[in-house]
Amino acid sequence: MKHDIRILTLIFVLLWALAWSSAGQAAAVEDQPTQSNDAPAEPIAIAFPEQPGTPDADRILRVLHGGTVEEMTMRDYLQGVLRAEMPASFEPEALKAQAIAARTYTLYKMKGGPITNHPDADACDNISCCKAYKTAEDAAADWGSMALYYEEKLARAIAETDGQAILYGGEPILAVFFSSSGGHTQNASAVWQTDLPYLQSVSSPEDETLVPNYYSVVRFSAETFRSLFLRTHPDANLSGSPDGWIQDVVRSDADYVTTLRVGGVTVKGNELRTILSLRSPAFTVKVEGDTLVFHVTGYGHGVGMSQYGANALAMQGMDAAAILEHYFPGAQVQGYTS
Ligand SMILES: [Zn+2]
Repeated sequence: MKHDIRILTLIFVLLWALAWSSAGQAAAVEDQPTQSNDAPAEPIAIAFPEQPGTPDADRILRVLHGGTVEEMTMRDYLQGVLRAEMPASFEPEALKAQAIAARTYTLYKMKGGPITNHPDADACDNISCCKAYKTAEDAAADWGSMALYYEEKLARAIAETDGQAILYGGEPILAVFFSSSGGHTQNASAVWQTDLPYLQSVSSPEDETLVPNYYSVVRFSAETFRSLFLRTHPDANLSGSPDGWIQDVVRSDADYVTTLRVGGVTVKGNELRTILSLRSPAFTVKVEGDTLVFHVTGYGHGVGMSQYGANALAMQGMDAAAILEHYFPGAQVQGYTS
């Protein structure tokens, strides 16, 4: 027993010395460029991945961008995706979670083989098909004097998670994400046709203090609502007063609208969200005279990782792997090689 304690103490001292010696190097790439490079107050944690994945620089993707197919490495593709998909001002661990999620989503799609939208490309820049993608020039126009700093910050999030993916049963998952929830994410089956064991409702900590435009209100005249809805559901009965048009609103525990009947037609809350271009399927609706008023919380479909939630968890000290394993229950972040 005494011997064990001595060995443990020795290991602890060695680890702390190792952490201390690499701290000077870490300080040079610290998040705040103006911060002093004095010795840090405490040792930094060093992560040892269980197994390395295929390096991003070794994976070549064909990306349909601006109408032409370009060959690029996974690393360069992810840099373009991160520029477009998450605010670069977010916490480093949230950006790392986003890098792993985007890498995983791409690997999942590539495993599925060519898709009809673009049989000659592995990914495209259309957000309704793949992920958004932004060039360095376009991002620099938005970032101004922060451009170099943000480029380096995103590159670091990708490099520090090189080759890592979110795996379930050893395979990359459908790593979907969205902007912000109403306090919980929702099950995949609430939005799409299929259910997946790792796309289940979990809590998410973002709120109106962290998310811009967290609450939104949208008003539709009865005439506008009718014409928008009849475009996709011409068989709906939307005659007379709008009072009785919307019925049987079913909510999930996560407070999203799962289904509702509109003019006698049952639709998913997310479908009505799409038809009306609401920010999310977490909404309430009331009729005021000849107007339908929607109060909406959060932004996005609500399935998988909440980006603002990931940032809130990173601010609480959670690392990228823990954030992802929270949003994708049962899945694990590991190096991926095939
Ligand atoms: Zn695509």
